[in-house]
Amino acid sequence: MNSTGRLHTKKHISRIEHYKQALSLLSWDAKTSAPLNSQKQHATIQGTLSKELYLLQTDPTFAKELRHLQEQNLNQLQQKQVQHYWNIYQKLSAVPLEDYYQFSVLKASTHALWSQAREQNEFKLIEDNLQQLIHMHKRFAERNPHLAPYEQLLEEYEPDVSSETIDSLFQQIKDAILPLLTKIKRSSVTHDTSFLNKPFSIENQQKLGKHLLTAIGYNFKSGQIGTTTHPFSAGIHPQDARLAVRYDEHNVKLAAFMFLHEGGHSIYNQQISSDLLDTGLGAYTSMGLHESQSLFWERIIGKHEGFWRNHAHLFKELEPAIYGDISFETLYFALNEVTPSLIRLQADDLTYLLHIIIRYELERDLFADKLRVSDLPSAWNAKYEAYLGIKPETDRDGVLQDGHWYGGAFGYFPSYNLGFIYAAQLREAVIKDNPDFDEIISSQNLSLIADWQKQHIHQYGKLKTPREILTNLSIGRIDAQPLINYLKKKYEGLYKL
Ligand SMILES: [Zn+2]
Repeated sequence: MNSTGRLHTKKHISRIEHYKQALSLLSWDAKTSAPLNSQKQHATIQGTLSKELYLLQTDPTFAKELRHLQEQNLNQLQQKQVQHYWNIYQKLSAVPLEDYYQFSVLKASTHALWSQAREQNEFKLIEDNLQQLIHMHKRFAERNPHLAPYEQLLEEYEPDVSSETIDSLFQQIKDAILPLLTKIKRSSVTHDTSFLNKPFSIENQQKLGKHLLTAIGYNFKSGQIGTTTHPFSAGIHPQDARLAVRYDEHNVKLAAFMFLHEGGHSIYNQQISSDLLDTGLGAYTSMGLHESQSLFWERIIGKHEGFWRNHAHLFKELEPAIYGDISFETLYFALNEVTPSLIRLQADDLTYLLHIIIRYELERDLFADKLRVSDLPSAWNAKYEAYLGIKPETDRDGVLQDGHWYGGAFGYFPSYNLGFIYAAQLREAVIKDNPDFDEIISSQNLSLIADWQKQHIHQYGKLKTPREILTNLSIGRIDAQPLINYLKKKYEGLYKL
């Protein structure tokens, strides 16, 4: 291809990326601060931009250029770039524009209907839409008869990790965690932790959040904090990585860990090399690896004793009437306490894994026609009883609590556990390079950790696959054992087992 052709391809790619960034901004706005009456017109604008994006990505001239480039001598970045857009082209061009558009509308309207169903605690309201979403996913999956529909969905979030691998990783986790939970239940170590549910003003929760984000190295000049119903991060581009959280006056623990979780995602988004801006590769490499970074900050660092030795004073300063007399040991225990609960977002390290396993098993069975949509609420409740020994009283606290499925995101949930597994493997790799890991956390020198992540993971964006990142760190394959070892040691210590 001559230089004019290459310049055309480069400009075309920039246009694609700018449409994506604009859509991401609109989506941020819709989920955080857009006025109620703007919804309809904004949804129409999103629809128009999405159609344009589809047309740009499936443009026949662009496809011809990509095919031509595949035969040229390209550097690594160019090769990955061409492959990236070629994959998108192949996937999208197999779906007619009308179907693609209808599916986008169905996803958006079902997600909006879910909020209503959740509020009214009425699963029936959403049942037909959910059925249609699954049906459309299956229909789109027909384009690739060699791979089962659910495997195709998994691949979108975490390449190279099949349901067979997930089955075996999750079985290993269940075998280790369920007996550990039984032992914890019998442990005599206990504290009154009800102080965490005493009113902690929203204003003070925001102050706490800002302190924690600053401590872990979030750059406020390249991001901002919003308020939403379901917390999320929006990596619009590396210079604009925002996060949105929700507040509950009676649950400061929820806010503290949400800030650390979304902060972890956002540090990843901010540390992607700006050389990759508008190349298509300037984004996270996989959902599993993205979650590994949020869970690393939320759970490995954010639940570390040394971390709270430095930050416990914030509780005392912000709400002295409640925290003035609480000892460090009691606060640290309360922040790590293991108690089976119905809501995933509030779950401790151990039961969190089971919350995800339940969702994975249900969605896998839905796609294998082993479970009907109408039976989903009762199947959900039965699994909570079997794994956690508790049963939701309402669907709001059960099958309607998370929005993922209702926005069409099947195959997403396993990413959380895969992320936690990666996080523990990455913890071992950080320790190998920094044997004084615990002291680093206690010394408030957390930029050393963020710099390590930038050097080995973040800067590359999509330039390296998760497998390449793990291989370069001599980690090899995804393995649940480091996570199991870490959790056992930590919680056997905390509960003196
Ligand atoms: Zn996350």
